[in-house]
Amino acid sequence: MNMNVIKDRLTTRLAELETRAERAERHATHRDEAVSADFAEQATERENDDVLHTISQEAKAEIIQLRHALDQIETGSYGICEMCGADITPARLEALPGTTLCIKCADKREQV
Ligand SMILES: [Zn+2]
Repeated sequence: MNMNVIKDRLTTRLAELETRAERAERHATHRDEAVSADFAEQATERENDDVLHTISQEAKAEIIQLRHALDQIETGSYGICEMCGADITPARLEALPGTTLCIKCADKREQV
């Protein structure tokens, strides 16, 4: 497995997410400026803000995960399951470059 390729993918994805989170946040804060006279419209705007908030929260969670994965590449612990210490399969890392769990532990954790 080529670490430089993985690193490139993580860095690219990280930049995408940072842009998305930033954009979502900027939109969400616009509500204070644009006050609609129409109540229904206000409600819709509030709903949009919730969606934007969720997007930004999800992006942030993934950003943390990707940064962590990049740290692991630096320290040489990338690709090792954080729960059981087993090697994470290259196929899984290719599909989910930010993962820190092997498939077994990921399955287990989802069931809990
Ligand atoms: Zn594991």
